[in-house]
Amino acid sequence: MAANPTSDLPCADSLRERLTDIYDRLLAAYGPQRWWPGSGGFETVAGAILTQSAAWPNVEQALERLRAAGALTPEAILSLDEAELAQLVRPSGYFNAKARKLIAFCNMLRREFSGDLHSLLALPAQELRGRLLSTYGIGPETADDIVLYAAAKPSFVIDAYTRRIFSRLGIAPQYEDYESWRSMFMVALPVNATMFNEYHALIVRHAKVSCAKRPDCARCVLQGICATAADTAQNAVPVDRSGASFQNASRTQETNA
Ligand code: SF4
Repeated sequence: MAANPTSDLPCADSLRERLTDIYDRLLAAYGPQRWWPGSGGFETVAGAILTQSAAWPNVEQALERLRAAGALTPEAILSLDEAELAQLVRPSGYFNAKARKLIAFCNMLRREFSGDLHSLLALPAQELRGRLLSTYGIGPETADDIVLYAAAKPSFVIDAYTRRIFSRLGIAPQYEDYESWRSMFMVALPVNATMFNEYHALIVRHAKVSCAKRPDCARCVLQGICATAADTAQNAVPVDRSGASFQNASRTQETNA
């Protein structure tokens, strides 16, 4: 059953105002995060695949090993055998599975786009997302990472940090599935790749600085508009309403991130 992401919220205008207000506060507090600025291309795609269940510094190690081996292109990936590739991406964890996923992506690219990444990334955002989702090993978060950060097209990325922060703020879709969360942002916000890029990066930053597993509400820039902070002020225990596991959240090594 399709979710109506705004059904438990006052109205779309109100949700838009709240999401925009949160974005403005985070941007004012942390400044532009400059994620994957201008790198684009296959390195961004590989990073999006390797970052699944991995800390970002470990992904950077894996990317560096691929670069040093001259294997940071689809053609080079396909010239390696799977075991060899797995060893190169070993620092990112789940290296056998990730090697298979990289190979599957490169095979799809060769089979359907003559190996031309630009042709794939030039597809309209929704078509690109659908193509990625039908490729082995690419789930919605990875697909949205690629659409947003490799193709620079608007697709809001949902991760465990997003669910954690917005659940605590008291803003959540009616249903917990990925598409309901994504729709909540996509419907309420202006469709703007630059903003989506920055918003997701700010969410990750905020999850590390303040809204970690144990939230630091006293020093949080969102304290004045947060449902959990209000609960805490009345001696309630801070809650994680998202139900998500953050142990494997990407781009962090911090024990309380
Ligand atoms: S006030 Fe606390 S729970 Fe709310 S966003 Fe900030 S750190 Fe998270």
